[in-house]
Amino acid sequence: MAYAVNMYMPFSLYNIKILYKLNGINYMKGKEMLDLIIYILIFITGTYFGSFFTLAVYRIPKKENIVYKHSYCPNCNHKLGILDLVPVFSYIFLRGRCRYCKEKIRPRYFLLEIFTGIIFVLYSFSIKLKLYNLQYYKIFECCLQILYICGIVIIAGIDKERKRIERPVLVYTSIIAIATLIYRYFIGIITIQLTIIYISLLIILYLVDLYILKRKMKNNYILDLVILILCMCISTKVNIIIITILLTILSIGIANIIGYIRKINYKNKPVAFYMIICNIVSIIIFNIFCNYIIK
Ligand SMILES: [Zn+2]
Repeated sequence: MAYAVNMYMPFSLYNIKILYKLNGINYMKGKEMLDLIIYILIFITGTYFGSFFTLAVYRIPKKENIVYKHSYCPNCNHKLGILDLVPVFSYIFLRGRCRYCKEKIRPRYFLLEIFTGIIFVLYSFSIKLKLYNLQYYKIFECCLQILYICGIVIIAGIDKERKRIERPVLVYTSIIAIATLIYRYFIGIITIQLTIIYISLLIILYLVDLYILKRKMKNNYILDLVILILCMCISTKVNIIIITILLTILSIGIANIIGYIRKINYKNKPVAFYMIICNIVSIIIFNIFCNYIIK
């Protein structure tokens, strides 16, 4: 973690160590210390979100409750205690095994928790989130983006495992997109015309799905993908979607070449999964470009 923070933060753990050595603690500015604490807290929050994502990806396709049902080991069904549920640390202390039946826990859970923590830190850094200059609009915008990212990450996880876009999560993401639209209209970023066009398009796509595709019993992965792209356009920005699409084509191309070399042929690529990863990367790149490079 220290390395990841080090690369992107002006005052990383490494720099602070140097400061300690050179000047002693008294010379450290309060602001930088506050920055460091807030980024550590954001990382920890991110790991909890990561833990929730793994749970949601596992339970939603099985139609299990993601809020009220107690966490359990998928192998022995033993209820997990508080000590088993601390993201990252539980995995390390239990050495990657269930406390009760000693069955191996898949390392991807652990990796997803760390990865989500890093994404949260990078996203906060990209929007220049600082505790001493928080503005209400920034907090609200940030919350909407996090709710949006929660939706798409769960869609990505399920798509990767089962090659389908889970409908309830897509509806949730669409609702967040509409909330974002209405919010942006009220603060004057977008016009009423554009708001109406976007909402109408979403409604039309859902109606097409309900009345035409359901009757013909066709696979509606492509339509779900179109709805997802529309949600991405609404919740982020058109420029970000252009970068996202270009990165997606590039990454699927690379995946195909690797598949060809290793002689593995995956017929149904989880396109939504690739798109979502590229979308998150594009959001961070775009924000860093706007907030640090152009200014
Ligand atoms: Zn177990």
